[in-house]
Amino acid sequence: MGLCYFCEKNDRECYTGYYCNECKKLQRILKLYGDDVYKTNDTVFIRNSKQQQYKIDTMNIKAHIKVDELDEKQDKDGYNLRNKRP
Ligand SMILES: [Zn+2]
Repeated sequence: MGLCYFCEKNDRECYTGYYCNECKKLQRILKLYGDDVYKTNDTVFIRNSKQQQYKIDTMNIKAHIKVDELDEKQDKDGYNLRNKRP
């Protein structure tokens, strides 16, 4: 039947239509909520470089906290093969 003109991944809804079921649903949501959909898309799904760096920093801090907790546990329990750091 042909691929959807928007996502170019799924089959079109019908022979005379241009979009698949999922993209048609997005079109209906866009008609229903208007410009709020673009704002939501920009604030929820798209991250600028500053936001990406913030996420990377947060993940690094969490990784360090986890390592510190393992170190404290090993210091407290003493070293043996069961609490060996992965
Ligand atoms: Zn589609």
